[in-house]
Amino acid sequence: MTRHVSYHLGWRCSLCGAEYQPDQATYTCLRCGDAGILDAVYDYAALARAVSPQALAVRSEGSHWRYWPLLPLEETAVTPPLQVGWTPLYAAPRLARVVGVRALWVKDEGRNPTGSLKDRASALVTAVARARGERVVTTASTGNAAAALAGMAAALELPAVIFAPASAPPAKIAQLLAYGARVLLVQGNYDAAYELCLAAAREFGWYCRNTAYNPYTAEGKKTVAFEIMDQLGGRVPDWVVVSVGDGNILTSLHRGFADWLALGWIERLPRLLGVQASGAAAVHQAWLRGDDDVSPVVARTVADSIAADRPRDGRRALRALRATAGASVVVSDEEILNAIPALAQGCGVFAEPAAAAGFAGLQRASAAGIIDASAEVVLIATGNGLKDIESARRATRPPTTIAPELAAVAAVAEEMKRDGG
Ligand SMILES: *Cc1c(COP(=O)(O)O)cnc(C)c1O
Ligand SMILES: [Zn+2]
Repeated sequence: MTRHVSYHLGWRCSLCGAEYQPDQATYTCLRCGDAGILDAVYDYAALARAVSPQALAVRSEGSHWRYWPLLPLEETAVTPPLQVGWTPLYAAPRLARVVGVRALWVKDEGRNPTGSLKDRASALVTAVARARGERVVTTASTGNAAAALAGMAAALELPAVIFAPASAPPAKIAQLLAYGARVLLVQGNYDAAYELCLAAAREFGWYCRNTAYNPYTAEGKKTVAFEIMDQLGGRVPDWVVVSVGDGNILTSLHRGFADWLALGWIERLPRLLGVQASGAAAVHQAWLRGDDDVSPVVARTVADSIAADRPRDGRRALRALRATAGASVVVSDEEILNAIPALAQGCGVFAEPAAAAGFAGLQRASAAGIIDASAEVVLIATGNGLKDIESARRATRPPTTIAPELAAVAAVAEEMKRDGG
């Protein structure tokens, strides 16, 4: 693999189909405006001649940059010097039995540098920003995309301006501050922060990472699909399960698996299960109605990372569900909170509420017969549990406080013996 060219031909508007050269469009379609989110277009024929899964697998990078030929960036570009991607995929046989499926794997995205899958997008976006000579990067975020941008920007010495709802969990805000980003807590929801960030980026010439609006976000995140295929040795799972806020991850999973299908490296797409919180279910409601587009809702859920009033990638997320013969379910906040200890105790992965929501949704889909007992399933644990300690505390029993005496421990040991521990 000595070529340094990019196989990226350009962009195609997901709304009107207009095509653009790689540098011709910066964000969305020039005709459709913000609604015209751009899909990347690749030279699959040239790619199929030049690379193979085996050739990618021998690349040395223990990160998502091993998939460089399948990304819209020259291989000589400067990237953040952090290990993004190549996260573990754990077999979880005990949880598979609990859920009632043949096999279950958990992709631990909390292992990324800033603790969530968002690093995949922000790593690519900051590399693009650096290649374009951008001076300031910015984003609106419920928290994780912001932490990811702030962390990647710090690694590349790019100034970052973050717009986050004032209600974001304290750990996420602390992360932003530690990375040295300029943090603007917006007195409003994610939607308000998103619009303000767009306006500020236009006004001040900042490079905007906003989810879906910036077409590189889905391209970065699709590497999670590539890794799943590599880690399973090319065995296509029946279902891939992920929680849904803006719908950008769902879109990127579809894009990633579709790349491999187009290259002839797999023979079918896995079905995608989208999981939303019942209090923030705009994509799910559109799915039930059979609509192509989402209508906004007033989002209320403990899972802050999926609290989207107006899912910014809703249209492409619905397309991803249909194209993969997928499905959509919703789960309550109570189910989400219960899923945190269930996942942690079932396989050792500590997930934040939005990530645990995926597991709650898998249980729902299995109980409802959407996913059957013969299925092989991958669950994406999208973010680390340490990002929202308050929710983890709410989801668990309080610890036992004792005097510093062995007698106090003896009582506990006795109790554990009784319980069969
Ligand atoms: C962003 C995020 C999601 C949802 O991704 P969307 O692209 O907004 O649908 C789920 N879980 C976590 C932890 C996230 O940070
Ligand atoms: Zn268009």
